[in-house]
Amino acid sequence: MKVLIAEDDVVSRRALEATLVKWGYEVVACADGSEAWQVLQGEGAPQLLVLDWMMPGMDGVQLCREIRKRAEAPYVYILLLTAKSLRQDVIVGLEAGADDYLTKPFDSHELKVRLRAGRRILDLQAELISARDSLRFQATHDTLTGLWNRAAILDILNRELARNRRSGSQLGVIMVDVDHFKTVNDTLGHLAGDVVLREIALRMRASMRSYDEIGRYGGEEFLVIAAGCTAPDTLKLAERLRDCIGRETVALAGQTITVSGSLGVASSSECQEADENWLLRAADAALYLAKQRGRNRVELFCSAHLPSMGLSEEVEARPSSLNGTSQ
Ligand code: GH3
Ligand code: MG
Ligand code: MG
Ligand code: MG
Repeated sequence: MKVLIAEDDVVSRRALEATLVKWGYEVVACADGSEAWQVLQGEGAPQLLVLDWMMPGMDGVQLCREIRKRAEAPYVYILLLTAKSLRQDVIVGLEAGADDYLTKPFDSHELKVRLRAGRRILDLQAELISARDSLRFQATHDTLTGLWNRAAILDILNRELARNRRSGSQLGVIMVDVDHFKTVNDTLGHLAGDVVLREIALRMRASMRSYDEIGRYGGEEFLVIAAGCTAPDTLKLAERLRDCIGRETVALAGQTITVSGSLGVASSSECQEADENWLLRAADAALYLAKQRGRNRVELFCSAHLPSMGLSEEVEARPSSLNGTSQ
């Protein structure tokens, strides 16, 4: 584990460094508080700190206060070294944010066990952070495909809609449904179906820009959010996705399976008040049309589809310059 030492006295610093290295720590030695503060801004900075109180410039207690003001950074464990042993001094040090203190001259065995106590806290913190990250991942991702799950992709859609409202930019939504997927399950089994779904998810993710988002919306349905995309941009993306799904067969246990997908595209430019509900229904209506028109194709929602969506008169009355397209 890395330890940062801040100690202005050269002899004490060298002795401390040598001792910690002997105990197996990787030591970053600093001559004062300002230097230590610089080191702490860097990536992979030590999280276990041994700070001398009295130093020129920024002293140990000031450094403690600066460190505790940081909101984002991971917790650092601070052991304050001080020649001050009065109860009042100790309170000041702890109040400034130190976790522990040791009065000089200190006993080396005591330093060893106090550092070990700090390490225990940091190890525990690392475990908690890793558990939290893994729970966060599980809560937002689909286990089969590794894509965003339904709740997460809908959150992203709402976040992007809010951003669009502020910036006035556009947004495209694509609903993807695998064609005749039930046949894959029925002929090759559910596990083979799972492999196909994973492969399709992988192909689509690889065909998108990093800032487009894709999630598993339902069984064999996927939802793509194309932030900042106009209707023609979104159509291009949908066409690319359609192509990547079916261009190559999927190899499975010695067999090759031909797959394809139907895609429905909706663009926020089609409706001034496009909200989550409107976009999803519009994309779904376009997808329905793609299925009806023979599958393995892309359709763009346009006002002509409105009657089948049961949307309001007000929306229906808006003229549209967009027509459904097919590949
Ligand atoms: P269409 O072209 O009209 O979309 O036909 P389809 O067969 O794809 O549509 P349908 O809705 O009839 O069937 C979807 C199938 O997807 C049925 C369901 O068992 C299967 N499915 C849903 N989720 C999963 C999954 O996680 N794994 C597997 N293997 N199959 C799934
Ligand atoms: Mg000093
Ligand atoms: Mg379906
Ligand atoms: Mg299907």
